[in-house]
Amino acid sequence: MNHARGPIYTPIELLARLVAFDTTSCKNNLGLIAFIEDYLLQHGVVSRRIKSADGEKSSLYATIGPANEGGVALSGHTDVVPVDGQTWTSDPFTLRAENGRLYGRGTADMKGFIASVLAAVPDFRRRRLKRPIHLAFSYDEEIGCIGVRPLIAELGKALPKPRMVIVGEPTSMQVVDAHKGPVRWQVDVCGRAAHSSMAHLGVNAVSYAARLIAELERIEAELKETSRDRRFDPPYTTLQVTRIEGGTATNIVPVSCSFMFDIRALPGQDPDAIERRLRRFAEVHCLPEMRTIAPESDIRIERVNSVPPFGADRTSEVVALALKLTGQNETHGVSYATEAGLFQNAGSPAVVCGPGAIAQAHTADEWIAESELVKCMGFLERLGAWAEA
Ligand SMILES: [Zn+2]
Repeated sequence: MNHARGPIYTPIELLARLVAFDTTSCKNNLGLIAFIEDYLLQHGVVSRRIKSADGEKSSLYATIGPANEGGVALSGHTDVVPVDGQTWTSDPFTLRAENGRLYGRGTADMKGFIASVLAAVPDFRRRRLKRPIHLAFSYDEEIGCIGVRPLIAELGKALPKPRMVIVGEPTSMQVVDAHKGPVRWQVDVCGRAAHSSMAHLGVNAVSYAARLIAELERIEAELKETSRDRRFDPPYTTLQVTRIEGGTATNIVPVSCSFMFDIRALPGQDPDAIERRLRRFAEVHCLPEMRTIAPESDIRIERVNSVPPFGADRTSEVVALALKLTGQNETHGVSYATEAGLFQNAGSPAVVCGPGAIAQAHTADEWIAESELVKCMGFLERLGAWAEA
């Protein structure tokens, strides 16, 4: 085997390099991907790009050790949230160290994890791995786990499928085995405009939107009563109407009204059931009445984005592994979403465990404690030893 001797960097040096690439989700990440690709190559690791449809962005997948299926994938997203409207003490894209903290956009979420993984590559390469360690770096996670989906679609086809996945989102190196899944819908109600003094000739889109929203409130109340999972705060699936827009003028029966609603689904909750119920309500309690006056009336319900909830099995091998590697004995549920449910639904059981605190993610002056990177390096070293045995 060719053990190329690449440059040895500390996780902090690598983090400084990664932070310097402005990979806000709306921008391209190819500079950062080229940097990682080149670094890996210098360590004798060949990686593959999985590009976005427009070619502006790319995921990267690499396998260290035996070039086959199985083993563990270390998953991280390369994109970061915008700094727009935030007041930073120093340049968000220049890593700044102060009192044991490293400041910069993405330090916690989640370039700190990627930097640690890259810093561990020489150690992974030095070992005689019996089980492969795969690296899976995605894009557009922050706008709905978009970029990882084409990568997952290639697992078991063009890319070797991992037996399990560790998603390194910031959990302060605690073991997270469950999170809720955000699902978002857009609803467009089309009625017929009329002078408000001749209301009987129109179909009031705002009124029908209100009926639909009242039905959503009933669903919300039921979810609160029926779904319970004590790992979460709150312990039920939430449902909220988050935006609304409608009407033209104070003397016109409104022709259109649009609103969005969002659920944060518990593991096991079926978002399709909620959508079906709203559709049925529209078909039975709104549309027939609307169409007696205006046959062109319509209600469109469209799912805008959906990240599946994640709940590991009680007997999950990867959860047991993460507990062993961290030396912990309890798992946690979190309220933010990750790529874990997507991997799990594709047949690679996942766990979430990574350096840094979620409280610092997305904030101005985002930071990660240097001690978190030290903890993560210890975790990765033990992972290397596990893969070698
Ligand atoms: Zn993240």
